[in-house]
Amino acid sequence: MHIRTDQIKADGLTLEFEEMADVFPVLSEMITRCECQFVAPIKTALRAIRIGDMIEVTGRIETQVRLPCGRCLEEYEPPINSHFDLTYVQRIPGAPEDKQLEEIELKAADMGLIYFEGEEIDLRDGIQEQVIMAFPIKALCRENCKGLCASCGHDLNKGDCGCGRQPPNSKFAVLKNLKLQT
Ligand SMILES: [Zn+2]
Ligand SMILES: [Zn+2]
Repeated sequence: MHIRTDQIKADGLTLEFEEMADVFPVLSEMITRCECQFVAPIKTALRAIRIGDMIEVTGRIETQVRLPCGRCLEEYEPPINSHFDLTYVQRIPGAPEDKQLEEIELKAADMGLIYFEGEEIDLRDGIQEQVIMAFPIKALCRENCKGLCASCGHDLNKGDCGCGRQPPNSKFAVLKNLKLQT
């Protein structure tokens, strides 16, 4: 998951690779904590080009995870796809004092720039962040997942539980609210 800057020719560099999720420290931690599982490796296809003293890396990641649905708790396997655009800047050795350097780098991070040292860019953190950002914000096994019955815990996607609970927002619930207001 490295780019050697001397491999980036005038017309750029195209790279493709595949890594298991557990080589990424944060993803590996998520797996250990059972927050999710990866059912496919993380595929990355990218193109790196040089723009002045910056290196722009654009590409896409693709993988698939297994997550519990936020409503019915049933596990499902959403695909994860994302385009990314990362800009790397080479750190110039021996430039400003440490303190100043820290400030400059913080500002650079605000602008979305990532510093690298030497002749090699390590893409691991950048790719890992893209995978995390591409996670579904609201994990739902299907758009209209009915979730679990609030009184008996039955998975309502598998049919009504028959425990007598009125589904929220039903005609009955609306009527009930009207009655309360009058
Ligand atoms: Zn669900
Ligand atoms: Zn029920």
